Amino acid sequence: MADLLSLSTQIIDDGAAIFPVRINQELSEIDDGVAVVESFSNVIALATDEGLVLSDTSGALTGGAVVKSLRGWSNDPFHTILYTHGHIDHVGGAGAFVSDAADRGDRAPKFIGHENLPARFERYNATAGYNTLINTRQFSGAKKMGIGGEHRFLPESTPTPDVTFRDRLEVSVGGLQLDLHHAKGETDDHVWGWLPERRMILTGDLFMWNLPNAGNPQKVQRYPREWAAALREMSGLNAELLVPAHGFPIGGAERIRRVLDDTATALETLVNGTLEMMNAGEPLDAILHTVKISEELLAKPYLRALYDEPEFVIRNIWRLYGGWYDGNPSRLKPARDTALATEIAQLAGGVHALIERAEELSEAGEHRLACHLIEMAVLADPENKRAHGARAAIYTQRRSGETSLMAHGIFGFAARESEAKA
Ligand SMILES: [Zn+2]
Repeated sequence: MADLLSLSTQIIDDGAAIFPVRINQELSEIDDGVAVVESFSNVIALATDEGLVLSDTSGALTGGAVVKSLRGWSNDPFHTILYTHGHIDHVGGAGAFVSDAADRGDRAPKFIGHENLPARFERYNATAGYNTLINTRQFSGAKKMGIGGEHRFLPESTPTPDVTFRDRLEVSVGGLQLDLHHAKGETDDHVWGWLPERRMILTGDLFMWNLPNAGNPQKVQRYPREWAAALREMSGLNAELLVPAHGFPIGGAERIRRVLDDTATALETLVNGTLEMMNAGEPLDAILHTVKISEELLAKPYLRALYDEPEFVIRNIWRLYGGWYDGNPSRLKPARDTALATEIAQLAGGVHALIERAEELSEAGEHRLACHLIEMAVLADPENKRAHGARAAIYTQRRSGETSLMAHGIFGFAARESEAKA
């Protein structure tokens, strides 16, 4: 058993170079009767007189290993299982818990989730092809977050919740009191929990040892303002123990307040800065290149942009309060990308001119511009092997300078696409 609280203290207080998000299916007891299994999503187990209350189930490929780890710690039945939200790394392992209960002859566990969760499951089934594609792109070759490539689709064995709620739900099981709060944040079905007797918060993904995943370029709307408000509410509780669904748990009231408030401040900076400029009539382009989170905040070991990025969060804020029109009228009803690219290539004197300039810009570190030009080159001449060779090299170069999993995934995917055509 690892001393997870000591590890998180070393990271937060002393800047120890330990990566806090691990997937090893190992169980650690962090308090009397409280265990965390570090997995695809952590699974948190709370012992009660009537059986175990659990938060999340990990993913489809890891749920069985988590159950095994839990069974090494407790023989009590799985009484109640909370879905903190409907992402498949949190619900996908549920089938393993149901099977374990059936094998042991226990009553099936009761699943609790937010009332928006069933609609999410329906949406996943309606967009299974798209989700498989984007998750392949997002997670491809990106192991540094500690997140594997299992984000595929919802297993058929995933139970929908037996109990749903809208704003608050008080759960009482075998002497344990768990107050559930709904807050929009990473999803519209997010739930966080407060255990008043233990002064413990279950954050779900509202805290995740990273800049919040509030911008994800390929996924549905996130809610940064509501997310920050939920973090402020948690911060006001003076919790002694904070247990996220990814990464180490954190102990100590002052430390917990600090990480929650810093994370809220990061989100509020982006929300307020974006809204201020929107209200002043600025286009998205100006906002994207003006509104920033301080370097000091982004350097915190729990706010690094390793997963998502401030720039992507700004786009999500724009989409939420504005719309998809970015303020540039040429993009309201644009020409086909190929038509514009062909026109520019002709003006430049041929596709080769675009390729050469893209390569120069890439070498000079002007990756944004380099990518615009090389995209035009392949759009204008999709069979051009030289253009694809340059495109693969330019995106590989660009990827190497990025920090976030999202940018790594998408730029890496583009590079591989062209490698195959070069
Ligand atoms: Zn998650």
